[in-house]
Amino acid sequence: MKKIAFFCIPAHGHTNPMLPVAAELVRRGDAVRFYSFDEFEAKIKATGAEFVSCTRFLPELTKEEEEAVKNISTTEMTIQDIKITIRMNDFLEEEFKTFQPDVVYTDSVCFWGKLNAWKHNVPMVVSTSTFAFNQMSSKYMKQSAAELGDMIFGLPKISKALKEMEPYGYHIKNAMMLVQSDNKTDSVVYTSRNFQPYSECFSDHYAFVGPSVFSKVLPNKEKERPLVYISMGTVINERPDFYNKCIDALKDMNVEVIISCGNSMDQKLLGELPSNVKVYPYVDQLDVLSRTDAFITHCGMNSVSESLYMAAPMVLYPQTSEQNAVARKTKEIGAGVLLTDDSAAGIQAAVQEILNHDSYAKAAKDCCDDFRSCSGTAGAADFIENAPHTGECFDMMDELKKVNQRFHPIYWAIFAAIIVCFGVFVTWQYAWIFGVAGGVLSYPISQVVQKLAYNRMAKKVRESYRKK
Ligand code: UDP
Repeated sequence: MKKIAFFCIPAHGHTNPMLPVAAELVRRGDAVRFYSFDEFEAKIKATGAEFVSCTRFLPELTKEEEEAVKNISTTEMTIQDIKITIRMNDFLEEEFKTFQPDVVYTDSVCFWGKLNAWKHNVPMVVSTSTFAFNQMSSKYMKQSAAELGDMIFGLPKISKALKEMEPYGYHIKNAMMLVQSDNKTDSVVYTSRNFQPYSECFSDHYAFVGPSVFSKVLPNKEKERPLVYISMGTVINERPDFYNKCIDALKDMNVEVIISCGNSMDQKLLGELPSNVKVYPYVDQLDVLSRTDAFITHCGMNSVSESLYMAAPMVLYPQTSEQNAVARKTKEIGAGVLLTDDSAAGIQAAVQEILNHDSYAKAAKDCCDDFRSCSGTAGAADFIENAPHTGECFDMMDELKKVNQRFHPIYWAIFAAIIVCFGVFVTWQYAWIFGVAGGVLSYPISQVVQKLAYNRMAKKVRESYRKK
């Protein structure tokens, strides 16, 4: 029997996939203590784990802070994570002394979980509820100007907050250290290697276990007319404007429509509903998806994974850079169309595209089979119980770093030779142009070299999987 401490931030999307894992570990006889917040108490207790409330450590937010967190400001969320870590410090000191966990299972952006595992030298496994993101896979994220601005202008604020943690024994140089996936940290990712972008560069310290869900329901699309399901997730879901456009788009189509609009929106804002549309504050999403033929989604990682797990193709309407990455991968495998025109006419065209072409449903079904062949919650539980994973393994990111280090001296030696030859044999007057060209071309050429090296190594990695 192992003692396992679970840590998560107060967010459904991050908590949900940890629940079936907790239930599996409890079933095996492990002692699971889940540090979370009152909003999630019932869900956590239902897994059989011991729920420990941390609600009293949540700081009171000002109106601006609340708005920034709601809008997924990276700076504000980082600052709040740091504040909570400091407020929880004394409590967790005591908890680590009394509970003495064998393993910490912590969400990838839950600072207090990660930092306390490091501080108390307890083996840690990271729960990754999005894709695993490193320098390669983050290329899938297209950051908006507002997101980039928030990150750049927030840096001084974050550095100051990180300094405030030092007296508590948390020594962190930059916030990236806390959130980026690296190849030495044991991590569970709730998707398959096939669906993870650039999966080959993630070492064997990663367990890609597929979606972590309770449902035993299988997809069943047999019914009189197609079902269109609409949800914008649980965070930024107060979108009456968008739901109204969806209703307009679908009211005269021969389809059933279910909208999950969240708990905080006043449903009166949607007016009188057409007979084929039903609106709920919250639904059993997996159950609905098992019957869904087209899912209009904000592309939260859980929603998309659950949709593919239930073989439901999607209309992709991402709102953040992370959701953009999920949308891009879904489109790439052919299981969805991007909603580029979010007018009623645009929504109708996108839904018709999905319903009128079997290829989307077929791609979603292929991915469903792939997900269902993953090791699932049992695999995640094995991985956590056996942590730390200490074996030597191939680290492609290290190899790529070496390629980059070798590239620059060779590249500049070539340009120096060109400059000298041009100067000696033609004229020194214009030789500087090659220096400028060298500087301008250095980044794109280094990217091409890196891509070629990646492809070469990825091929080998894929061959090694086939042999296993
Ligand atoms: N969810 C649900 N019922 C609803 C709406 C959402 O069960 O009516 C669940 C959904 O199954 C998923 C989570 O809430 O597990 C949403 O997570 P996601 O990562 O998709 O989006 P987020 O809410 O984090 O933006």
